[in-house]
Amino acid sequence: MTKKAAVVGAGISGLYACWLLEKQGYSVYLYEKSDAIGGRMRSEKKSGFILDRGFHVLQTGYPLASELFDYEAMGCQAFEPGALIIKPHEKKPKIWQFTDPFRRPMKGIFGAFSLFTSPLNLLRVGLLRIKLMRIQDSELFQKESQTTLDYLLSKGFSQPFIDRFFSPLFGGIFLETELRTDSRMFDFVFKNMSRGNMVLPKDGIMACPQQLFNRLTNTTLKLNANVSCIDDKTIRDGNNVQDFDIVVRAFAPVKSKLTRGVWTIHFAAPKSPLRGNYIMLNSSLKSSNSLISHLAVPSDIQPSYAPSDQSLITVTVVAEDATKQGLTSKQAIEESVIKELSLWFPGQVDEWSVLEVQYIESALPEFSGEHFDNLANLTGDNICGDSTYHASVEGALISAQRVIDNLVKNGSQD
Ligand SMILES: Cc1cc2nc3c(=O)[nH]c(=O)nc-3n(C[C@H](O)[C@H](O)[C@H](O)COP(=O)(O)OP(=O)(O)OC[C@H]3O[C@@H](n4cnc5c(N)ncnc54)[C@H](O)[C@@H]3O)c2cc1C
Repeated sequence: MTKKAAVVGAGISGLYACWLLEKQGYSVYLYEKSDAIGGRMRSEKKSGFILDRGFHVLQTGYPLASELFDYEAMGCQAFEPGALIIKPHEKKPKIWQFTDPFRRPMKGIFGAFSLFTSPLNLLRVGLLRIKLMRIQDSELFQKESQTTLDYLLSKGFSQPFIDRFFSPLFGGIFLETELRTDSRMFDFVFKNMSRGNMVLPKDGIMACPQQLFNRLTNTTLKLNANVSCIDDKTIRDGNNVQDFDIVVRAFAPVKSKLTRGVWTIHFAAPKSPLRGNYIMLNSSLKSSNSLISHLAVPSDIQPSYAPSDQSLITVTVVAEDATKQGLTSKQAIEESVIKELSLWFPGQVDEWSVLEVQYIESALPEFSGEHFDNLANLTGDNICGDSTYHASVEGALISAQRVIDNLVKNGSQD
């Protein structure tokens, strides 16, 4: 008789779990409570623009994700390795270009002389990169627990450089700008940024879960499902109780209340305010009442993100930074961001219009150092998702792999 599995949650971890279960011979039933697959990797179309739900990139350096995804088939295009760094000013903002000297040697050397920071800090970035590239991924999480800030200080980076470069860059990735995130996660992300590219698919970030979904051949999807998991073999679907050989829960458990939020503001503009396909970081984020951690122009990378005569500008604000300043409504965020942007691009912002202000309350899980101490031993029982491993696409995929491997190993497939 065909074995039956239920997977609850159609984010990237649930979709990958379906695929792994299919490979083990299961007929899979996938239940999703919302109206579409993708979970936190969703995109929508609005007035000819593609708006990702929160600024989101794919990292081609992730090993498992790279095995699974066909980036070429998604028409992925890459950001330049490096960043533009802005010091806002009402009349004359200053912009530095920081280029990865390992991949763009000429531009990188030029950038090193741009007086953004002392050459020592740039040298330390290079040394850290070389060191991390030599460490196996599996060893990255075996170090002692430390905050990212303490770690960077211990590596000799100056506090001003951390504030002006690492805080806006990693603040926008970790969704906290204090850099309290465990340094092992920093190493993981930094290494992956160094060995791969940050890319955007032609059809928006949702192309990624869609590609996984398109590969499924023996999975029945139910959207808008009102499902609760009773135990590892039983679910309640509305009024029906159904038994399966395996039930996998692919969403964050209720107890994980500790999550990080983000505001994303999408603008339509007559032209791109940036030169070069870089992300722009706010060097003043820590030194004033600044809000914006970074800004990107997705349509510079993927013209499909905007109508041909316009540009899409996407601004990221870490929610806890906004809350500290008493800004909690869409209107307040919108007004503050526009005011701040007028110091980034004087005279240009009047021509921009807001397409959408998005608030993602539970964007990323918050982990303790202890969580990372135990990472190698986590099996997740029947629960997968980034909240059971680490907060990234790669973490979500690994979590699904570990759960299914464990279930198969323990003979639950019989
Ligand atoms: C704004 C933003 C930017 C990000 N940027 C990056 C990035 O650049 N790089 C990176 O690696 N990662 C990034 N991430 C993180 C990455 O998106 C997540 O780690 C990953 O998508 C998590 O996938 P998941 O399957 O674990 O969870 P989810 O995507 O949250 O999927 C869980 C699914 O379960 C469903 N669900 C919940 N409860 C039930 C229920 N009772 N019944 C049925 N279904 C249910 C939900 O609706 C959802 O579809 C970002 C996240 C956000 C929000």
